[in-house]
Amino acid sequence: MNVDRERLREDVERNAEFGHVETDEGRGRTNRPGTEANRRARTFLVERLEDAGLEVRIDSVGNVVGRWVPASADPDARPVAAGSHLDSVPEGGIFDGPLGVYGALEAVRTMRELGIEPERPLVVVSFTEEEGGRFGSGMLGSSVAAGRRSVEEALALEDEEGTTLEDALEGIGFRGEGRLNAAGWDAWFELHVEQGERLESVGVPVGIVTDITGITHCAVTIEGEANHAGATPMGERTDALAAASEFVRDVERAAEETVASESEGVVATVGSLSVGPNATNVVPGRVECGVDVRDVDHGVMDGLVGRARGSLARLERSRGVECALDREFDVEPASMAPRCRTAAREAAKADGITAMEMYSGAAHDTMRVARVTDAGLLFAPSREGISHNPREWTDWDDCATATGVLAGALARLAGAAPETEDRGS
Ligand SMILES: [Zn+2]
Repeated sequence: MNVDRERLREDVERNAEFGHVETDEGRGRTNRPGTEANRRARTFLVERLEDAGLEVRIDSVGNVVGRWVPASADPDARPVAAGSHLDSVPEGGIFDGPLGVYGALEAVRTMRELGIEPERPLVVVSFTEEEGGRFGSGMLGSSVAAGRRSVEEALALEDEEGTTLEDALEGIGFRGEGRLNAAGWDAWFELHVEQGERLESVGVPVGIVTDITGITHCAVTIEGEANHAGATPMGERTDALAAASEFVRDVERAAEETVASESEGVVATVGSLSVGPNATNVVPGRVECGVDVRDVDHGVMDGLVGRARGSLARLERSRGVECALDREFDVEPASMAPRCRTAAREAAKADGITAMEMYSGAAHDTMRVARVTDAGLLFAPSREGISHNPREWTDWDDCATATGVLAGALARLAGAAPETEDRGS
């Protein structure tokens, strides 16, 4: 669908003024939840939603919702929703989040102007604190909307200074009422920048996400015996770091073999290591390390954690160390709904756009929403894959192309496919 590129650009550029950061490398923004910059960004969004004729409400955790009930729609039908977030990391980019919010609004404006007649209401959403920059918990607003966390629990979250989310939202006048309920949506779509280089490298303007990878973190301890590096003969050592070095290689090898045999996108990383007592003249007595495992298949992730455990058991036998592995954090992968993917594919085709199916290695609000309703995720190309940085950039043409596909997908999901007449012929 043909959206108004300049109107979309103006919205994203106006939004970029709030918490604006000028650097030698580009224009960025710092928009932490509950700050003055955040208040202004939210206020501008409310104005733009109202200008477009949407009815706006704010829920208890500050999620902003604009609702359009077309004359053609049953007002009681479950709506089709789309959006993203307006908060940013410190000195983040201007597209990460806002493109999805203003893209959703532009999609609705375009549908109205083209006289498209959806059978369902459409809802534009901006979730509170996706980035987790202040209240420590990413995907905050979407986790409440998806029923994973209660309103009370969320409002009681504190920042480093002890300010609660409730106080922060009240301070900017965005503590509303009720709870946005994502389970009540017929379907959900988010448009986001890719934050990777795959689309750019193949010259494709739109990515249709099939799955969002799950993430597991394991805390591993390897206990040996600290001893004098000079007075302890080689045959009498229980060196925790030497054992850990084998563990690091085992994890890498296990992931490489899994890539070849089971799942080509799987990744496993031993990303942190702390050595005790960490002195040049002492045989290491204790190592703590952190393992990160990601894949689109939770069973494959389980398999890799199992192989990490197996490596530790082998080291206990061969080296006399004592090991423990605690799988302290685990988020399951999320699959995007087939009918959302189909709607996006058809919308791209109708626009004559090449779209590519891909998975997402980064988490988004959609991950939460996908637990309770049919969800889809679209990517627009990121120049050089850079994000969370003022150098983040997506060409305006690509923003408009992806927004056009979003609009077409939303129209189809809402029961108004402008090209349906042609399909049978
Ligand atoms: Zn984002």
